Amino acid sequence: MTSREEELKKRKTYLQIAGTACSCCHKSCKEAGVTSLLRCARCKMAHYCSKECQKADFQFHKLFCLAINELYNTEEAWYSCKGMESEWNKRKIYQMQLLGFVLERELTNYERHVWLNQPKCQICFKCPKDLKKLQTLIPCPNCQVVFCCSSDHWEKHRSKHNDLCATYQIMLDCEKIRYQPDQPLWAPEEFDENKSYPPLPRDWNEYFKWRKASQLLQHDSYCRVITNTLSLPLTILAALERFYERDKLHSIDDMVIHIAGANQYELLALMTFEEIMHVLPNIKTLHLVMVGLEMSSMNHGLPLQCCPRCTKENRQRVCSMYPMTYHDFAISLDYSQPHLVVGFNTGLYEDDTELWKPTIKCLLDKNLPCSFTSYSKEEATEDVKLLKEWSAKVLVGAKENKWRSNMPLAEPQEVDKFYYNNYYRTLFQGRVNKEKN
Ligand SMILES: [Zn+2]
Ligand SMILES: [Zn+2]
Ligand SMILES: [Zn+2]
Ligand SMILES: [Zn+2]
Ligand SMILES: [Zn+2]
Repeated sequence: MTSREEELKKRKTYLQIAGTACSCCHKSCKEAGVTSLLRCARCKMAHYCSKECQKADFQFHKLFCLAINELYNTEEAWYSCKGMESEWNKRKIYQMQLLGFVLERELTNYERHVWLNQPKCQICFKCPKDLKKLQTLIPCPNCQVVFCCSSDHWEKHRSKHNDLCATYQIMLDCEKIRYQPDQPLWAPEEFDENKSYPPLPRDWNEYFKWRKASQLLQHDSYCRVITNTLSLPLTILAALERFYERDKLHSIDDMVIHIAGANQYELLALMTFEEIMHVLPNIKTLHLVMVGLEMSSMNHGLPLQCCPRCTKENRQRVCSMYPMTYHDFAISLDYSQPHLVVGFNTGLYEDDTELWKPTIKCLLDKNLPCSFTSYSKEEATEDVKLLKEWSAKVLVGAKENKWRSNMPLAEPQEVDKFYYNNYYRTLFQGRVNKEKN
């Protein structure tokens, strides 16, 4: 198996989490040709299309299943959130800590996701565990991932859900595309040569036309999935356009981009960064330097495969990885001055603010052009506030990013909330000159 296939196997689709697809093979009832899925009797949170799938998944599922069972047995007052979403969330987060305690380790991302997004009635917040024998949650017939415990409760929830049901369906369609391991995520080699960069086209539609991929536009979900990864190089290009004059930009043949706080999202999208070379035809070598505590190993200048056209033209793309913070990387011998530093969906103000603080200080000291993105307006606004507190000179603050992802993702800790990668962007460079004031 390739690492991408392995990674896909580890991740679970929203249908699997909702219990409407097999926890092992990703198939829905219809795809597996069965009328209903078998449910794990112990934890009631894993579903299988066949005994074979249950057996195959057992090793993977066993420890988490036993931990849930232990929690069920020991936790008194299991259900007492009185139909209040905030109470439900609080409880699930508390129970998640208990689960970690039982397992004697932190929960994996998958386990967290499964636990927090388990099927529940949208009105009274009952889970399968809380229901009487023979009573089951009733799924929405259109999206199959949102439930109520009775037709009464559906009656109450229907109008609220109708607006969101379409987004759920888009999200599920996108997942279907993303979970096909052989799906090429982006490939066209042809251009409309009459148009040259910069500036970038007006929007995604124009962009796909420019890149001679207009046939894509007929497949809405496929387009959306592509924007999720293509958002990374396009957000970089839009920032380069803001920081460099046209001639300067075209004269760079050795382009160095640093990605601060890099994680799985950027790693799985590595291929799409080649788009920077396609838009800037004078680049001979593109250096991608991924710096972040989530990088698994140290790598210096790993050559990556390029498309046939770039290969023929002897252009290359190299990737380096540093499992450390950016400010530690900056004092290492491997450090060299980049053309741009990017941070995707950083959430400076929220997570690891103390780790980001010295990183931002280092970026400001070095007067480097920086482009950071956030999931939402609120987060972006908080990030900008913090950057200003640290006296960064903010050039573009919390503005909607037209190269954001159009692929909805379900907010793991909230009901009926979606988010999009790189939705807002913030550009900054150096410090505001305090002496002048
Ligand atoms: Zn199966
Ligand atoms: Zn189980
Ligand atoms: Zn209910
Ligand atoms: Zn629905
Ligand atoms: Zn290429």
